[in-house]
Amino acid sequence: MASNKRTPMIAGNWKMHLTSKEAADLAAAMKKGLDPDLKHEVLLAPTFTALHAVNAVLAGSKIFLSSQDVAWEEKGAFTGAVAPSQIKDAGCTHAIIGHSERRKIFLETDEVINKKMKAAIKANIVPVLCIGETLEERESQKTYRVLETQLVGAFAGISAAEAAKVVIAYEPVWAIGTGKTATPDQAQDAHTFVRKQMERIYGKGYADAVRILYGGSVKAENIDELMAQPDIDGALVGGESLKADKFLRVIHFQAALSR
Ligand code: PEP
Repeated sequence: MASNKRTPMIAGNWKMHLTSKEAADLAAAMKKGLDPDLKHEVLLAPTFTALHAVNAVLAGSKIFLSSQDVAWEEKGAFTGAVAPSQIKDAGCTHAIIGHSERRKIFLETDEVINKKMKAAIKANIVPVLCIGETLEERESQKTYRVLETQLVGAFAGISAAEAAKVVIAYEPVWAIGTGKTATPDQAQDAHTFVRKQMERIYGKGYADAVRILYGGSVKAENIDELMAQPDIDGALVGGESLKADKFLRVIHFQAALSR
């Protein structure tokens, strides 16, 4: 059981689902079902077009709003991109950066992700940086190498002070949307490695404080055993975050009582 002082975070990534009205309704259900005494952080990441509507619903609640991506430039001829100041204007305090779907489908490189990290930090937006290996990489014993490369790339040129608020999400690609969750031991092992890398880059104080979320088929049924691992500080949840009752169960994971 974790005995650390890191505040757990549970984040819901709604991907390219829900209209503004549907997202607002789901956010309202989350707000209503949340334990008012909950000590950990909850984050909702609707699609861009639903940000304003969800932000209005979340007023007066402790739930944070996140975008699923952010541009690295502040303004200009970048058709289709959304700037840090624009997501802030819509109410976001956080931005998911480097999700594996952005890496794989939209061909985002570590260099692009690094630029997005810097732009978010400059705008005082908390990056939720996603990293993780594919099945092929895991099976060919490249997991650690991939994680190290992604971390070094994402944090290049970012000082410890600038990196202070960053949240890292370890999301093995083979576990995202597949129903195959990493076992608690597999996740703990990867989280330990990530924390060691952060110690190597920024020192022990930083590594002890940085929050590392697990993502990949997190469900109401497996959250408790995942959160019981000492280096798992929360979860980034896709599919299960679209169902209010299930996601509320994930948010109110049982291990919270012992933290
Ligand atoms: C995700 O979108 O980051 C994710 C982990 O999805 P899922 O929970 O559906 O696997």
